[in-house]
Amino acid sequence: MAEHESLEFGKADFVLLDNVSMEEFMANLKLRFEKGKIYTYIGEVVVSVNPYRAMNIYGRDTVEQYKGRELYERPPHLFAIADAAYKAMKRRNKDTCIVISGESGAGKTEASKYIMQYIAAITNPNQRAEVERVKNMLLKSNCVLEAFGNAKTNRNDNSSRFGKYMDINFDFKGDPIGGHISNYLLEKVQCCMFCLVHQLLRGAPDSLLRSLHIQKDPTVYNYIKVGGQIKSCINDGADFKAVADAMKVIGFTGDEIQTAYKILATILHLGNMTFGVDGDVTLIETPKLVSVIRELLSTKEENVEKALLYRTVATGRDVIEKQHTEQEASYGRDALAKAMYERLFCWIVGRINDIIEVKNYDARIHGKNTVIGVLDIYGFEIFQNNSFEQFCINYCNEKLQQLFIQLVLKQEQEEYQREGIPWKHIDYFNNQIIVDLVEQQHKGIISVLDEACMNVGKVTDEVFLQGLNGKLAKHAHYTSRKVGNINCNSRLMDQTPDMYSVVGFIDKNKDTLFQDFKRLLYNSANPVLKGMWPEGKLSITEVTKRPLTAATLFKNSMISLVENLASKEPYYVRCIKPNDVKSPLLFEQERCRHQVEYLGLLENVRVRRAGFAYRQTYPRFLQRYKMISEFTWPNHDLPSDKDAVKRLLQGCGFDHDVAYGKTKVFIRTPRTLFSLEEQRAEM
Ligand code: ATP
Ligand code: MG
Repeated sequence: MAEHESLEFGKADFVLLDNVSMEEFMANLKLRFEKGKIYTYIGEVVVSVNPYRAMNIYGRDTVEQYKGRELYERPPHLFAIADAAYKAMKRRNKDTCIVISGESGAGKTEASKYIMQYIAAITNPNQRAEVERVKNMLLKSNCVLEAFGNAKTNRNDNSSRFGKYMDINFDFKGDPIGGHISNYLLEKVQCCMFCLVHQLLRGAPDSLLRSLHIQKDPTVYNYIKVGGQIKSCINDGADFKAVADAMKVIGFTGDEIQTAYKILATILHLGNMTFGVDGDVTLIETPKLVSVIRELLSTKEENVEKALLYRTVATGRDVIEKQHTEQEASYGRDALAKAMYERLFCWIVGRINDIIEVKNYDARIHGKNTVIGVLDIYGFEIFQNNSFEQFCINYCNEKLQQLFIQLVLKQEQEEYQREGIPWKHIDYFNNQIIVDLVEQQHKGIISVLDEACMNVGKVTDEVFLQGLNGKLAKHAHYTSRKVGNINCNSRLMDQTPDMYSVVGFIDKNKDTLFQDFKRLLYNSANPVLKGMWPEGKLSITEVTKRPLTAATLFKNSMISLVENLASKEPYYVRCIKPNDVKSPLLFEQERCRHQVEYLGLLENVRVRRAGFAYRQTYPRFLQRYKMISEFTWPNHDLPSDKDAVKRLLQGCGFDHDVAYGKTKVFIRTPRTLFSLEEQRAEM
């Protein structure tokens, strides 16, 4: 509960509301937003409303105000949460993580950057050069990943099209010594809308563009014109150099950077490639592009041509070359472009990881190295037309919501029960049912989708839909009212019935890239490119195993992400988007209420209110506070530590604000704890 803030700004912690109702919650949120207070606590959770304007609250002076302070000592801020996570890590040797959630445009990525910036600012007081180097790389890697992985969408000018989880490793002194990044599902459909493509066109020197055979005019490129519209990105021109410099600083070689540009150029050229037919022969109508692509990929012209027009198939022991139809050739071309982009992105993440991973740290000498993880992952997405990508994104959010519920609500309740503390049960919506609907073996939507993809012969989106209707018709959270539309998301259901269209699910899930393309890229004379496509080494007869589908890969990565988060001490930032027009003034009541609802914030306040801010086992509590009471200092002669703690707290007059569990003491308000800390400091 933050002090030092006048009440005219509303309540700094929702726990302090007079009544926990949606009306009061919303009124407080709105009042604070209008007064320019974009952060509010729910206990240790930060609720953040996107201000859509530059705020003067992230400078060095603010950092100093939060450094080393307790959460409730200062007005709510991201820095306070970052500091709490840092302190838990440093003082108690705990791995912690900060989970940032919210819908697209709510401010997650900005928040993650401020958190990183804060951690960078408060570490390395001794100015060790190696630590400075690591910090610089961690910050620079952001810039590179954003260039390759962000795009302008209708909802956000700088939307992350990939989820990012970054671990920062710390040594025993609490200084960063390295890191690791995991990325989740790079959306492929709009690969040419990614910022870097625009940065390249606008910002690259003419000589580079000439060598890539690229023209400055974006209207020339089909992939950029998707939907007849040219999408640009914020600051594209100016950022090109910044990204190139950042890549150099991180340690990418000149050849590697050049290869990245060549791949982007190849993708643009592929988009302009067209096919035709002459009799029963499929032809490339744009032979000039074949020679350009050959040059960019350091391969032979006939290889490019062959890979675009034929696929090698094994029938029994024979291997034959089968000609594509015009349609298949177009499909293959687009799949190649998307796969090259995705591979490039993953390769960049991998290279960054090679460079920033912890090196030369010997835990036997230096003690355990601890971790703070920061998760910035796309929030719920509901468009007019929702497809496979939205399905995956929303599934991920349901899963994170489930983790949140599990950790904050369920664990809290269960601990009180375990400790025998009287407790009024709080109802909450258990998200597990939605998560199961998507991911359960055999019965879940992903299993049904994989099954449909494995059918021989008739594999269509309709077959998938029939499969779903067959298996899930009775499920309380599944509806399929219109043909081609499914709905499997309860938190959003009331507003948007029939939310996913099954069209495209099968293709996107199979995610086929003809083996011939992999071989083409593997056989490039450019070692960087070759290295990105190791599986191209296999000949057609060696490729037997069916690769995992996109949905299953995503599901597996989500399951391990959640396991990883669950093993750490979590801190939460819940981001809210105040309006759809990026206005700093507008607080759209309904829009916000909806987010508060599906983020489960009110439930969160209820549990927090019913609950206790602080808890500690009796021996550890004594260890910390025994010096403030004559009954416990230096040792007590009471029958148990529990009795001793009781005696201590009675002596201070805090008995009314605490509960004594079987093994732990529970303190209701942070103020009590604060005052214990003060007394301790005065000793
Ligand atoms: P997505 O899921 O699409 O990636 P996001 O939640 O990461 O969305 P951001 O990119 O962080 O959203 O924020 C969107 C925009 O909102 C930013 O580009 C910035 O203009 C503005 N914004 C967000 N947070 C802040 C802040 N704390 N101060 C000022 N502006 C902000
Ligand atoms: Mg983002």
